[in-house]
This record gives sequence, C-alpha cells and structure tokens, in this order.
Amino acid sequence: MPDRNSPSDQTVKQLQEKIHFLETRLEEVHLYTHVLLEIVRALNSSLDTRVIANNIISAISALVAVEKVTVCLCVDLDKSFEVIGIFDSSTPYPKLPPHYDYSFIRQVVGNEKTYYNPRPNHEDPWGLVCCLPLLNAQRKIGCINIHSIRQAEITPAQMEFLETLAGYAASALHNALLYAIVQRDSITDGLTEIYNYRYFQKRLREQISLCQRRQPHASLGLLILDVDNFKSFNDRYGHQFGDTALKTVVKILASHLREEDILARYGGEEFVLLVPDATTESIKSISEKVRNLIEFTRIINPDNQEDVSITVSIGATLWRPEDTVTSFIARADHALYRAKNTGRNQSILE
Ligand code: GH3
Ligand code: MG
Ligand code: MG
Repeated sequence: MPDRNSPSDQTVKQLQEKIHFLETRLEEVHLYTHVLLEIVRALNSSLDTRVIANNIISAISALVAVEKVTVCLCVDLDKSFEVIGIFDSSTPYPKLPPHYDYSFIRQVVGNEKTYYNPRPNHEDPWGLVCCLPLLNAQRKIGCINIHSIRQAEITPAQMEFLETLAGYAASALHNALLYAIVQRDSITDGLTEIYNYRYFQKRLREQISLCQRRQPHASLGLLILDVDNFKSFNDRYGHQFGDTALKTVVKILASHLREEDILARYGGEEFVLLVPDATTESIKSISEKVRNLIEFTRIINPDNQEDVSITVSIGATLWRPEDTVTSFIARADHALYRAKNTGRNQSILE
C-alpha cells in the first residue's frame, strides 16, 4: 500500500529533471562567469586594438561555435570601417572579399541595437548572422560581426553573454584608441602634424648608434631648414597666414620624403630632416631640390588672394665616425649660419 505522504514517481521524475536543468544552467553560468573574467583580464592587458580584437574573437570562440567573425572599428565619423580582427575557421589567412559592402552593418551600428538573423543567406559566406555594435557614452566605436556559425542558433544565454562581452570590448577599444591619440600627440607638433623636437632627438640618437654599429658602411645626412625673414613675413601678413606658410613648407618637404626619412619641427620656423643612407651628392641634391621647390611655391593669402612666396636657408651635413649628437647638429647649424650670413635662400653642406 503506497504511503500517501510520499511523492509519486512522476513528481520525483519532474523534480530530478528540474534539478538536472538547474545544474546544467549553473554550470553554464559558471563557465560564462569564468570566461567573462578571463576576457576582462585579456581585454585590459593590452592597449593595441588588434590584440584586443583577437582576444575578443578568442572569447567568442570559447562559447559559441563560430565559423567567421570580424571585429571592426568605425573610422571617418562612422562612415567606413577598419577591420582590426578577422577569424575564419577554414583558413589561417582569412580575408574579407574585396569591396565588401558595409552598408547594412553601418545601419545596424547606427541603430545602436544588436542584430540577429538565425537564417542568413547561405549563398553569401560573409553574410551577417549577428552584429553587435560597440558603443560607449560618447561615440560609436565599432562592431563585432558574426558571419557564420556551426550551430543551429545563438541561444538566448549566449546572446546575453555576447552583449556583455561587447560592453567590455567597447571600453577596452575606447581606452586603446585614447592611448593611441595621447601617444601620437606626445610625438607630434600640433600645427604642422609632423614629429616634434623631442621625438626627433630620440630618432637622431637611434640613427647615430645605428651608424656607429654599422661602420664603415653607414651614412646619415642631416638638414636644418630655417624660413628666411619670417618675422617680417608675420609682421606683414599676420601670424595666421604665417602658420599657413609653415604648413606649406611642411607639405612640400613631406611630399619629397622617402619612407625612411625623418622630418620634424625643430622649433618656431625651423625644421630638421634626417636622411639615412645619404651621400654627399644625394644630400646636396635633396637640399637644393627642397629649397628650390619652396622658393617657387605660391602661397595664396586668403585675405586678398595675393600670392606670395617664402624662401628657406639650409644647413646640411653628413655624419662622421667621430661625431657625437652635439657635434653632428652643431656642424649643420654652422652651415645654416653661413647660409644665412652669406645671402639666405641657399643651402650649404659642411
Ligand atoms: P632669419 O632669416 O634670420 O631666420 O630671420 P627670421 O625673421 O626668420 O628669424 P627670427 O628668429 O628673427 O624670427 C623668427 C620668427 O618666426 C619669429 C616668430 O614669430 C616666427 N614664428 C615662430 N613660430 C611660429 C609659428 O608657429 N607661427 C608663425 N606664424 N610664426 C612663427
Ligand atoms: Mg629661426
Ligand atoms: Mg628664420
């Protein structure tokens, strides 16, 4: 005779199923919490956006069976995207198709809401299953795109995880972007956007020690350029147009540089150019070329459309094995001094 107080087999079975369900759910939550902690640690361990993007992709792959993922940054006021991380389980060298159409992704990021389509167009291997906008209070940072998955669907629990991850990813990427700006600003001149004096000094020391190690097969050229009578130019045309003239000089110099040349603002209206692997002939020819180009460039004064020009004097030198940083610069400076004192608008090599 069954005991009236003991639960029926049916109830026991139901309870066991419930316990099993809750245990599975708990395990899942444990796993997600663990992975999230790992992610926060990984995301905060780097200030390199590409490393962060790879960490984001690893984190997603740990919990969702993804086949293709990209992580993108918004560039040009959200008009286009830069892919900073890409994963394709079928190849170690994944690539988005050329001319990939971002218009739909742009729309999703603009709406600032997660997009999820469990049944994307299978014809398009880089279609969109899920797009998670990366946002913070001030701006749209980018997005995480899941282009294809190896499971039937993204479960609600996985989606919750992905959205939490996107929040952490957004702040890690934002920090990295801010850091990059601070780093760039610390080595850049604000007016002309070329390197500043401090950065030039660092690169000069590096280049000199490279020359010392590579002797006797090393050479390094240095040009110091100074705008002629610039005080009078400012007095006559105003400081603002003076700024335009300085930017014009930089544009001319920058457009005639090789990748390895190092151009910096030395101060006021003075610029320096380091030319690795220079010879007497090449340094003479570079000096005369830029001097000539600057002399014959017309700069339009926006106040009255008058076109004016400026000239520069250049002191140039080549590194010698006995040189210190100071003696190297002093010789170029001396050459500049002579160029100034013997007529300006000329270059002298010492
Ligand atoms: P010199 O041919 O001997 O070099 O004569 P100079 O007038 O160019 O030389 P000086 O050193 O007497 O004057 C430099 C001028 O450069 C004075 C300063 O106001 C101007 N200057 C320095 N930095 C800037 C800048 O960022 N913008 C503008 N517009 N002028 C600047
Ligand atoms: Mg000067
Ligand atoms: Mg000057």
